Amino acid sequence: MHGPDLAHLTERFAAIRERVAVAAQSVGREPNEIRILVATKTQEADTVRAAIAAGVTLIGENRAQELTAKAPYIADLVTAGQVEVHMIGPVQRNKVNHVLATVTTVQSIDSLAIAEAFSTRCERAGRVLDVLVQVNVSAEPTKSGCLPEDAPELARAIGTLPGLRLTGFMTIGAHSGDTAWVRSGFRRLRAIRDEVWHSGAPGTADARELSMGMTADLKVAIAEGATMVRVGTAVFGPRPTA
Ligand SMILES: *Cc1c(COP(=O)(O)O)cnc(C)c1O
Repeated sequence: MHGPDLAHLTERFAAIRERVAVAAQSVGREPNEIRILVATKTQEADTVRAAIAAGVTLIGENRAQELTAKAPYIADLVTAGQVEVHMIGPVQRNKVNHVLATVTTVQSIDSLAIAEAFSTRCERAGRVLDVLVQVNVSAEPTKSGCLPEDAPELARAIGTLPGLRLTGFMTIGAHSGDTAWVRSGFRRLRAIRDEVWHSGAPGTADARELSMGMTADLKVAIAEGATMVRVGTAVFGPRPTA
């Protein structure tokens, strides 16, 4: 796609909503239980604005630097409440302030050190940040996220931090054509969520979100309980390879 094409984006976003609705109904779920986050990495600010005009209300950025560069161009829409921005990629500690200036939620918390850095900043600013623990369910070495066996303990530790509210868990599914393997990863995330959410531990009562499923695997993720799917190529088309 060359440049923002509103009609095209509107059509593609409607199609993805339909895909989510069909996937939900096929497993007896209500489509409105599942939020659609649109991943805007590599997209120009103009294209992001067009996507918001096309009905997108939740976007996610992967890189702090890219988020900071685009933030001024969408600030009016954020302030007007037309769009919410989540961080969905790894954050270095020296970028915490930049990220906090724009986002309501960080989905990519995978260590206590980064959680504490956000909590300290938020406490100082008198705010509470929603966070998800990112889990590397397939334990692929190239992927961010904590290991599944470490996730419950990390989540409970985050639950005690005053500047954060633990709202759930996020994963990037296994990069595999083997649906059973992809599904088992999503199941694992759900089991971790259930364990923590029902633990009664301090700060875990709101940990219900399961952010899982992307363009290629959202149907399986929805069948396994996703409350949020994250799509990029389904809306914008293939990204240019860097
Ligand atoms: C890019 C990205 C997505 C969207 O991926 P698509 O395959 O383009 O749908 C979702 N989640 C994260 C964390 C991403 O980086």
